[in-house]
Amino acid sequence: MLLYNTLTRQKEEFKPINSPKVSMYCCGPTVYDYQHIGNMRTYIFEDILKRTLKYNKYKVKHIMNITDIGHLVSDADEGEDKMMKALKRENLPATKKSMLKLADKYTNAFQGDLKKLNIQDPNKYTKATKHIKEQIKLVQILINKGYTYETADGIYFDSTKYADYAKLALLDGQELQAGKRVDLSEKKDIHDFALWKFSQANENRIMEWKAFGKKGFPGWHIECSAMSMKYLGEHFDIHCGGIDHIPVHHTNERAQNNCATGIKESVNFWMHGEFLVLDKAKMSKSAGSFIILRNAINKGISPLAYRYFCLMTHYRKPLSFSWSALESAQNGLDNLYYELQKLGNKKGNFNSEFKRKLLDSMNDDLNMPQILALIFEVLKSNLKNEDKLTTILEFDKVLGLNLNKVKKEKINIPLNIKNLAEQRLK
Ligand code: AMP
Ligand code: ZN
Repeated sequence: MLLYNTLTRQKEEFKPINSPKVSMYCCGPTVYDYQHIGNMRTYIFEDILKRTLKYNKYKVKHIMNITDIGHLVSDADEGEDKMMKALKRENLPATKKSMLKLADKYTNAFQGDLKKLNIQDPNKYTKATKHIKEQIKLVQILINKGYTYETADGIYFDSTKYADYAKLALLDGQELQAGKRVDLSEKKDIHDFALWKFSQANENRIMEWKAFGKKGFPGWHIECSAMSMKYLGEHFDIHCGGIDHIPVHHTNERAQNNCATGIKESVNFWMHGEFLVLDKAKMSKSAGSFIILRNAINKGISPLAYRYFCLMTHYRKPLSFSWSALESAQNGLDNLYYELQKLGNKKGNFNSEFKRKLLDSMNDDLNMPQILALIFEVLKSNLKNEDKLTTILEFDKVLGLNLNKVKKEKINIPLNIKNLAEQRLK
């Protein structure tokens, strides 16, 4: 099975550390707002990866975090906490209770969307606020090992102490030099980042913890390192997210994990999904240009048609959003359902040639567009209807389009409608 590893910039043969077990960590949402359909593209990619691993008979342990504290508005450790900002936006009182309620609301909305998209649940969702002890302990390890320094506003990771810091992001010397010229306030280097922030005197923080002699709260990156290691061990197989995480969040997580454990590469495969883009710009919350799943449903697009839309493009290629492209995906999926209905209910054999093709496609870095093309090859082939059906339903174990749920009851379609449908297909 070949998977593209961001760390080495190439497809590599996947070998689990402790086969048949596979440990996989995916960065989850910051629950201060709805997740947009761009975010959903990344979770669909991760679901395809997990289904492919399972199809290859691996036992996957999948962990996803829920960030309910500590993610600042800017990735450069400045600005407000996103959760605090959301409280103000929603005119909620600044209390711990309303903060928890807010987090619950968006966590539930997120998990509901995953279900609609037929994305399998992780083995465990881990909340940042439930793992404060682990995060403090990890910061302490990094302090003890000499990787940190303290400023008036927090404890920072000293990126210059870790020679391999730039490897994941491929930051070159020039970029590292350029960093030295910008305003760093008390930071020594542009790439240094907060492990722990101190609450400031004029700040009215709702959630803060006593640690390192003061009141404060965790930086954004430390939660993922603490929770991934707690549930998957110091050395694990796969870490995923969207490409925006490569230069900051994952680079910092990798630095924390490798420096705290002393393991050269504590994660074997770093995998990243390309973005859903809108007019060539990324879809993002901060730019105010985001569409949530509910908007698409309201326009008559089914969640599985959005999934189908995502599967038509390889996860490492940017995908351009437009309503007309989504409508085409809906038509494509409806056609597929129509063709499947025509095959009847009877199950047959999984054709061996198509089985080989399925494995070749999924194990070549998750080539879903090729598997979709294979479905049409099966439909056009001279296999018996029952073998076609069984073969396509096997494909669907990885695609996750719920093709087995296509209604098979006999309905009488009026002749004129049948003719129209045939014409459209042609
Ligand atoms: P966030 O809530 O911003 O941390 O994002 C949650 C996940 O969605 C992360 O894995 C991001 O990398 C990913 N993501 C953010 N924006 C997009 C986008 N436009 N297209 C695809 N994935 C995205
Ligand atoms: Zn993370």
